[in-house]
Amino acid sequence: MIGRHAISTKVTAPLAGMALAGIFAGSLALASSGGDEDPGGDRRAAALSAHRAAPSAAPEERESGPPKLPADCKPKEAADLDHGNGRIPDEELCPLPQEDESLRADAAAAFYELNAAYHERFGEEMCVRSSYRSYERQAELYASMPAGMAAAPGNSKHGLGIAADLCGGVEEEGTPQFEWLEDNAEEYGWIHPAWAYSNPYEPWHWEFDVGQND
Ligand SMILES: [Zn+2]
Repeated sequence: MIGRHAISTKVTAPLAGMALAGIFAGSLALASSGGDEDPGGDRRAAALSAHRAAPSAAPEERESGPPKLPADCKPKEAADLDHGNGRIPDEELCPLPQEDESLRADAAAAFYELNAAYHERFGEEMCVRSSYRSYERQAELYASMPAGMAAAPGNSKHGLGIAADLCGGVEEEGTPQFEWLEDNAEEYGWIHPAWAYSNPYEPWHWEFDVGQND
C-alpha cells in the first residue's frame, strides 16, 4: 500500500506545476484588479487562499481583547429613562458580551470596563448567570424560589437592569474571583450590597452602584 501511495504522488507531480502556473496567473489577476477577490478559474489557488484565511480569523479575535460596549448603547441617557421595574424595552437595553444577557446602558458600560479588568486578571471574561429580568421573568422566579430568595416582582434591581448574578467562581465567597471583585469592582462602579452577605447570602449578586445603596 505504501508503494502504491508513493507512485500516485509521483504521478500527480506534473499537476502541481500546472497549479503553480494557475496561482501565478491568479496573482497577475489580483495585481491588475487591485482587489482581494479570488480571480476564479483555479480551484487549487482558491483552496489555498481559503486555507490561509481560515486559521488567521481566530487569532485576530483573540488579539482584539475583551469586547467593547456596542456603539448604539447610550449610557448618559440611561438614568433619565423612567420605565417601570421589569419594563425596559429591548431597544434600550444594552447587550453584554455574555450571550442573552443585557443591562441598562450605564450599568452595561461600567460592566464592560469591569469585564475588561477581570479579563486582564483571570484571562477570561466574567461569567454571568442572570442580568436584566423582565417583570414576567421575575414573577416566574419569585413563584419558583423559596421565600426570601427572590425579590417580589417590581422590587428587584434586576428589573431595573442594574444587577447581575455572576458565576465562574464568584458565586462562592472566598474564591480568588470573589475576592478580586470585592477589591476592585467598586472602582468600576459595581458593588456587592451589604444585604447580599447575609440576608439572604448571595455572593453571586452584584449591583451597579447608582447611589441608591448609600
Ligand atoms: Zn441577583
